[in-house]
Amino acid sequence: MPTTTTTPTRCPACAGELVLLDAVTQAWCPACLWNLDVYDPALSPWRGTTVVGRWGFRRGLEVDRATQQDLLADPDARPTGTSPGEAWLLAVSVALGLLGVAAVGYLVWLVVASGLPPGVRLALAIPAVLVLLLVKPSIGRLPRHGVIAERDAPQLHRLVREVADAAGTPVPDVICADFGINAGVARLGWRQRSVLVIGIPLWVMLSRPARLALLAHELGHLANGDPLRVRRTLLARTFGARAVAATGGRNPWRRAIHSTESLAVEGGAGVVLFGMIVHGIVALVNVAGATAQLLVDSVAMPDSRRAEYRADLVARRVAGSAAFLRSSETVVVADRIWQDLWHLAPRIDAEQLEAMAAEAQQRLAPEVPLARQVSRRTTDLWSTHPGEDQRMRLIEALPQVDGALGVDDIRWPEVDAELAPWRRTAHNVLLGTRDRF
Ligand SMILES: [Zn+2]
Ligand SMILES: [Zn+2]
Repeated sequence: MPTTTTTPTRCPACAGELVLLDAVTQAWCPACLWNLDVYDPALSPWRGTTVVGRWGFRRGLEVDRATQQDLLADPDARPTGTSPGEAWLLAVSVALGLLGVAAVGYLVWLVVASGLPPGVRLALAIPAVLVLLLVKPSIGRLPRHGVIAERDAPQLHRLVREVADAAGTPVPDVICADFGINAGVARLGWRQRSVLVIGIPLWVMLSRPARLALLAHELGHLANGDPLRVRRTLLARTFGARAVAATGGRNPWRRAIHSTESLAVEGGAGVVLFGMIVHGIVALVNVAGATAQLLVDSVAMPDSRRAEYRADLVARRVAGSAAFLRSSETVVVADRIWQDLWHLAPRIDAEQLEAMAAEAQQRLAPEVPLARQVSRRTTDLWSTHPGEDQRMRLIEALPQVDGALGVDDIRWPEVDAELAPWRRTAHNVLLGTRDRF
């Protein structure tokens, strides 16, 4: 998060000083939040075009507002049955599945019964093969490194089980470490086993109660009715992403122009024309895939957003309001803390990471309020999580509660000891990235 603040002018609503952070294009008023909820292309996720991006940003705000109102009215409501979002994704999944079955049937007919010349069969088979590639479920793979086995970390596994019990959710099948500043739960592999991923950098930065809040939020996802996290909706959730990945990822038009330009250097007019057509089709498929996925997801997103807030309510219940808010405050400055640790890494060892992270967070505390506010501009309808500010507001609007789960102070050093090898790797990651600059 950027630091420099300037005061371009006064707030027209309350005459307070406006702020403008680096990399933020529009000033806002930190006192009355005037002009805070505006679409900022520099911060908002890129969705192919500004028009779609702006619509997604506005719609995201509406969904957040409506969901918060509902949950404030009845914070203890549990998800009941299949949500409309899930039913929708289910219907799309069934349609895609039928499309796949039809493609298989067509291929069988082509090979066995059509009696066409081999060359014609081959040409006619191509579209069906492409359809199959598109609808084939993307199941994800369990990471080969990073699995934290129960025999290596019995206390951590015990802690996760206790959080799951307190949260009323299933225990994850696998616990994994990675080195992102994040955490998550996913269903991976053919058996779609539930995997809890703990980003060691984030874990190191969080206070102990805040770690409980983080675990409770993630485990809350295993039982909160998020339509984007159930097996049944897998086909509908991944087909567009697959089309985008197969056609080269982001910025398809820029890539098409580059490729055509490089053809123009080498080949004649015929080659260039052919290249333009091929690259144009690839870019079109890319944009169509991305757009179709956004459209399909937009129907399911309100339910998914509600599931995120519900996971936060689980975190509040299990770890307490203060621990949840503390974890959010860490998250809003987590990148900056990690940057500080990167500078310090050559002069400290792995066991000092935690204390240094706590020190960095204390130093950054004055910047938390603005960083928190600006998080509202970084999310839209399709973001996996609401902005930190929105999430904190919901918890702040509810009565403050203590956590239902208490963890004895003597157990934390045992958990820490089990994770020592992972802290060493995190330290090496910091040292390793240093060498690259
Ligand atoms: Zn103001
Ligand atoms: Zn979540």
